[in-house]
Amino acid sequence: MSSEINVHFIGAGPGDPELITVKGARLLGEAEVVVFAGSLVNRAILTTYCPTAALHDSAAMTMEEVIGVIAGGVTEGKRVVRLHTGDPALYGAIQEQMVELDRLGISYRVIPGVTSASAAAAALRQELTLPELSQTLILTRLAGKTPVPEGERLSKIARIGATMAIYLSVGMIDSVVEELLTGAYTPETPAAVVYRASWPDERIIEGTLANIAGKVAAAGIDRQALIMVGEVFGVRRNGLKARSLLYDGTFTHGFRTGIVG
Ligand code: SAH
Repeated sequence: MSSEINVHFIGAGPGDPELITVKGARLLGEAEVVVFAGSLVNRAILTTYCPTAALHDSAAMTMEEVIGVIAGGVTEGKRVVRLHTGDPALYGAIQEQMVELDRLGISYRVIPGVTSASAAAAALRQELTLPELSQTLILTRLAGKTPVPEGERLSKIARIGATMAIYLSVGMIDSVVEELLTGAYTPETPAAVVYRASWPDERIIEGTLANIAGKVAAAGIDRQALIMVGEVFGVRRNGLKARSLLYDGTFTHGFRTGIVG
């Protein structure tokens, strides 16, 4: 079915080479040219799945150069993979590449990946959606060199009080905390920072909005980390507020009839 597609954008996952999808690993294994995001993709993924492919680290390349390598490979009839960290749909800058490929008439597919927020939740052994605490997860970032639309300013979405996974912002954690405190969060709101989730040197810093910035500064973490915030991160300390109805014996749903009384 995909025989005519020679370009795949693949999510490499958060770091651990076993956290790429089966499909992504297979296509990577078949690739002859791989352009990978060198700043965050684990080199072990390349040595494990595509040891003989021609490798291009996109960290120092421009978008035009990336497209040049992809298009060059396609012209030579080679199978090409563009490898991004986590899930390529999140902060991956893949749209502009796909627009260029469209313009050149080159077809492609996207293979999703495990985003770092999922890896951070796993590292924390934490469900992100808990009954009566939060049923919403916001993936966002603080404005940096890349601006954030005014309506999505952290201080504005902080009014919702949902669980948040904040990407690309740990270097500005003081401003993150400041903006969150203007919303529904308080100095007591639990927060965690997960550095290089799923890598061998993964680190977890836990605290509250009152002390997380100081702890992160003391740990010297200023990149490659996610800031996780919300009441759900307090349940190991404070206990579960409510249990899910899904496995509640008195609750009837499509797959089970509940016991009454
Ligand atoms: N597409 C990626 C995100 C790329 S933006 C994804 O889905 O995860 C890069 C940011 O992602 C980093 O600044 C950091 O906030 C986060 N990140 C990527 N890998 C990470 C990891 N293993 N652990 C913690 N944060 C990570």
